[in-house]
Amino acid sequence: MSRSGYPEAAEKTKTLAHHDNENRKRILVVEDNQLSLALLKQLLEVHGYEILETPEGLEAIDIARDKQPDLILMDIRLPDICGLEVTRLLKQDEQTKTIPIIAVTALATAEYEKKGLKSGCDAYIAKPITLGNLLRTIESFLSSVPSAVGSLHMDRSPTPSDRFQVVDGLEGPARDAQCGNH
Ligand code: MN
Repeated sequence: MSRSGYPEAAEKTKTLAHHDNENRKRILVVEDNQLSLALLKQLLEVHGYEILETPEGLEAIDIARDKQPDLILMDIRLPDICGLEVTRLLKQDEQTKTIPIIAVTALATAEYEKKGLKSGCDAYIAKPITLGNLLRTIESFLSSVPSAVGSLHMDRSPTPSDRFQVVDGLEGPARDAQCGNH
């Protein structure tokens, strides 16, 4: 990026900025409501995150595999498949299972929270979202991951997510029950 020819100096200058492109954590926002998506995207970008986005669950899986985001915000009600199902698939996939997933939904009942955690969500946030709560929750996962900048080799080790990780034996037919009517 730097035209100076002194990458190290450029790097030093850049780290003085609150956020720079290489330092930015990447969040995949899975949300089918365009307005919600736009708001989340704007809020998170303002706070220094790089945003990947999709309104569809299956596409979320492809993006997660390809781009390896640092965290996923997962809406539950999606047009193609349930966000909890997407979560379960991501948590069963070697390539994506360590990515923290925060479920975001208006279906904020205790029962739903249980289902969310069972499907492998690492945390659960109710809509309407409180910005402070959202940022704190995101930070709680991302701050435990060392910066990938520079020579630090980051081997994605288990995150706080493990406290909620439950081996899920549910298979196909149980999916509807798990995702409910929505
Ligand atoms: Mn939705």
